[in-house]
Amino acid sequence: MRPHFSRSVFLRSALGLAVAGTGLAGATRLSASSAAPAAGSLVADADSPAGAFGRGNAESKWRALRGELRGRLIVPGDPEYPVARQVFNTRFDDQEPSAVVQVADAEDVATAFGFAAENDLEVAARAGGHSYAGISTATGSLIIDVRGLRGVRTDAGQAVVSPGHTLYEVYQELDRSGRSLPAGACPSVGIAGLTLGGGLGVESRAHGLTCDRLTAATVVLPDGTITEVSATVRPDLFWALRGGGSLLGIVSSMTFDTIEATTKDVVRLTFPGEQADRVITGWQEWLRSADREQWANVSVDADGEGGLTCWMQLVCPAGAGETVTAALTDAIGLSPAATDVRTLGHMETVLYLAGGAVDQPRAAFTNGSDIVSALTPDIIGTVLESLTRFSSVGGTGWVQINTLDGAIADPSPTATAFPWRDHAAIVEWGAYEPIPHDSALTWIADSHAALGPDSVGGYVNYLESGDSLSRYFGDNHSRLAQLRARVDPDNRIRSVLTP
Ligand SMILES: Cc1cc2nc3c(=O)[nH]c(=O)nc-3n(C[C@H](O)[C@H](O)[C@H](O)COP(=O)(O)OP(=O)(O)OC[C@H]3O[C@@H](n4cnc5c(N)ncnc54)[C@H](O)[C@@H]3O)c2cc1C
Repeated sequence: MRPHFSRSVFLRSALGLAVAGTGLAGATRLSASSAAPAAGSLVADADSPAGAFGRGNAESKWRALRGELRGRLIVPGDPEYPVARQVFNTRFDDQEPSAVVQVADAEDVATAFGFAAENDLEVAARAGGHSYAGISTATGSLIIDVRGLRGVRTDAGQAVVSPGHTLYEVYQELDRSGRSLPAGACPSVGIAGLTLGGGLGVESRAHGLTCDRLTAATVVLPDGTITEVSATVRPDLFWALRGGGSLLGIVSSMTFDTIEATTKDVVRLTFPGEQADRVITGWQEWLRSADREQWANVSVDADGEGGLTCWMQLVCPAGAGETVTAALTDAIGLSPAATDVRTLGHMETVLYLAGGAVDQPRAAFTNGSDIVSALTPDIIGTVLESLTRFSSVGGTGWVQINTLDGAIADPSPTATAFPWRDHAAIVEWGAYEPIPHDSALTWIADSHAALGPDSVGGYVNYLESGDSLSRYFGDNHSRLAQLRARVDPDNRIRSVLTP
């Protein structure tokens, strides 16, 4: 996913960096939208049609909860509430959670679950707040915000990470011991949400998904039980945590097998948009023989006037940049219009891929994804046609294609809940404001439809509301649904997926 910076500077990619700011001309040709997301089911307020408890009653209940917590409880009317309810995507700014519990420890999470059960409230965990579907804020829900759970400890190649950290913070802390994790590029994404849904990044070909490096976790289940999970303790839950999204409990600690933090060559290549099909085809050809330490993805941006720009981000071991670029461009059979090669230290690479800034402004955006088993010429054509059509009606959307090969494909599709282990790629669709949400949504829905059965599902970290569980978990969905029925029989934890 590509963080948005500003219209006048650069659009940055989460899994590859920066192309010169895409023009927004023509965006006004798209219709405006109310962009109202689905509301939650319960509101703990006397005025609510589904009010769980009356106003006077509510005050005493909140007071009682506050007294039980080590962390903070923020309810509507508190001065902190307008900010406490916000997530990264401003599209969800109209959501009014019944309260936000900023937990101080796992016991607070258990207390909040207990309160939610007593008052029949839906619960949503929040870490980095980057959920595409705005899961971590919702009208009526009790938000359990884990950002106060802090700490990154490394020992003998293992890192114990609290879920309150952003990716940048985790990279920075691990870097002090010369270690890292294969994870995403957006600096403000939460390590918790990213890991639980998979975790795709520039080290994925070499070291797998972030969830593949998870060796243990502490989880608070909806019944308030605090349990350790690992390959030998509650292996069912451990299976689900690795890619199963966040349907089963709230994680209060994660232990990872780290990787070495290394210096990289980081290369950006730009190609004419009309050659995007050749670029994608050549990229796939190159992937077949490219060493796993070499990684690249392809992005295609719509200019909103019917045109496209194509660019690639390549990351490989320091010193190999020129050779790897030559092999990649040979496979594509085109000379790039522009090439930028630089050698960067580990944290410099992190910052570069983050778009050069750790703090990113909140923005409104709409995204979706498709998983394809192979990138055939037909599929490539469909993807590019859909983006071109959107471009021709003012849509400054983009497509980013990331490979699922290398170490991602080492585990079997059933080894963890992340099911896309023998598939070629994730095609991500996205559009930022000022493109109206409804227009972007229609474009993405049309794109899914155009791909038809060539799309076998979606990536749960690029979640779209209203989809079925099976779309994100493929053959693993029944096992996940059964586990959820066992540990969360009341569906306490918020989900926007149909069973
Ligand atoms: C700008 C941007 C860039 C991105 N880049 C990448 C990328 O490079 N690679 C990639 O793979 N993905 C990427 N993503 C997708 C990202 O991985 C998901 O959106 C992820 O779910 C965000 O996690 P979060 O903690 O920030 O969000 P949140 O909204 O806080 O949480 C996301 C989900 O996890 C749940 N959750 C949060 N904390 C916990 C917890 N402690 N226990 C249990 N459940 C919890 C929430 O309830 C919610 O369902 C990007 C997203 C954005 C917006």
